[in-house]
Amino acid sequence: DLIKVQRALISVSDKTGLLELAATLVASGVEIVSTGSTAATIREAGHDVTDVSAVTGFPESLDGRVKTLHPGVHAGILADLRLESHEAQLNDLGIAAFQLVVVNLYPFVETVESGAKPADVIEQIDIGGPALVRAAAKNHANVAIVVDPANYGELIAAVETGGSTLKLRQKLASLAFEHTADYDLSVSAWFTDNVYDQWEDDNEFLGGDPLDDDSAEEPEDDASVEDSPFPDGILIEAERNAILRYGENAHQAAALYVGEGGQGIAQALQLHGKEMSYNNYVDADAAVRAAYDFTEPAVAIVKHSNPCGIAVAAAKTPDSIASAHRRAHDCDPMSAFGGVIAANRPVTLAMAETVSHIFTEVLVAPGFEPEALTVLTAKKNIRLLELPADYERSSLELRQISGGLLVQETDTFEDFSSAGWALVAGPEADAATRTDLEFAWKACRSVKSNAILLAHGGASVGVGMGQVNRVDSCHLAVSRAADRAAGSVAASDAFFPFADGLQVLLDAGVTAVVQPGGSVRDEEVIAAATAAGVSMYFTGERHFFH
Ligand code: 5GP
Repeated sequence: DLIKVQRALISVSDKTGLLELAATLVASGVEIVSTGSTAATIREAGHDVTDVSAVTGFPESLDGRVKTLHPGVHAGILADLRLESHEAQLNDLGIAAFQLVVVNLYPFVETVESGAKPADVIEQIDIGGPALVRAAAKNHANVAIVVDPANYGELIAAVETGGSTLKLRQKLASLAFEHTADYDLSVSAWFTDNVYDQWEDDNEFLGGDPLDDDSAEEPEDDASVEDSPFPDGILIEAERNAILRYGENAHQAAALYVGEGGQGIAQALQLHGKEMSYNNYVDADAAVRAAYDFTEPAVAIVKHSNPCGIAVAAAKTPDSIASAHRRAHDCDPMSAFGGVIAANRPVTLAMAETVSHIFTEVLVAPGFEPEALTVLTAKKNIRLLELPADYERSSLELRQISGGLLVQETDTFEDFSSAGWALVAGPEADAATRTDLEFAWKACRSVKSNAILLAHGGASVGVGMGQVNRVDSCHLAVSRAADRAAGSVAASDAFFPFADGLQVLLDAGVTAVVQPGGSVRDEEVIAAATAAGVSMYFTGERHFFH
């Protein structure tokens, strides 16, 4: 497997060690073929060198963009001379093989770091160099490829002792691919940054109204504008913070823009795991929204932005957040697989140990005990996000629709106490049932409409979410709760337009119901609850979530 070097192609931007290498090669009888300034340097030192244009029969052209990109060069590098057919073809074509390629690439990173203009940076994207490097590395059975002056010593030793071994060529090939991969990563990182900056520039109009030429002349003391929570220029205050792993699907690029003012899930610090994706953020936001609705220790597990389990800690437990997690998980263990978990207290060792046995995409919390972190970081894939201690949701919610932007105040309604509710059917609920109703009513707010949530003992036991009619949501909640539906309480995010949905819950054995009320058929709905002897409360507030 020893390959004697008879012909070498040298094309280097970094001329370190070049002359010593050239001297050794020439002394060993090697023919050197070289590009522009590399050839000039070798020639000036008094060594023989063949210009690559003499090999290609084509001038180095387009300001150096095309120098070695020619079959006369590449066939000489890529021919696999273990094959008689390749050898015969080279002979027919009159092309001589190379046994050594020495290339280092244009100084792209250095050019970017020097603050050069985009046009100059682009000129420093080496095209022919990586092609040479990759061709020679691919054909390492026949060719040695050197991309770093640090390897010249080994190479010289090999040339002087009869040629390169396969082992050396394999090692050099591996370094070579690493080098071109790094190089392309630098190029792509530069593009990403610059393309997105461009994107921002192109969208500057979002800060104002491009159609309203008179906007600058609007009276400054216009009360309706000043009092509005919707100032001009909401978007312009967001800065791109990260390129995400990908968007909703792997073929969609995505980025995270972080608004000024330090609020929301966008401020979370990632401690561990793969890059966040778009869906990870959407789900983490939904999970945090659900868990942080509670002041007592609570955990929410979310899939596709819907909770499949929400729970507060059981009474008298030594580790409340671990208890809340276990109870949230028990709501729907099948759906919790691959979920996003939010805790509103620091994650303890006990919780970490349970989570470590469940495939989980993201775990977000206001902190992690050190031992919990040790257990969790042993799992390569789980993403750990830390929320600031003073975490707050942003006060505005923005949603893009095609051609525009919807903005609303966040649903921060906070009075979940049953004190203000109206009992409209059945007997007054006992204290434990009222507590469960309050829990269910609060938890229900984080479930996409139409939302029906069944709860028992401070934990959801069945969630019916996102259905296009309330009856289906009731069926879903009941079927997920299975034998836990009987004896549970139910919350509905909006009124029952007919008694049919409620009837599904009553038939399943629900003992109390809380809902906003306000349907034109409230009487019919109340009558159904009364007939079943089930307590029903109206809150007067609706909590749609889309
Ligand atoms: P020189 O300084 O010898 O004129 O050019 C050396 C540089 O040119 C090396 O960094 C090498 O990677 C690069 N190079 C070699 N062939 C080509 C080519 O065909 N096109 C481009 N753009 N660069 C090349």
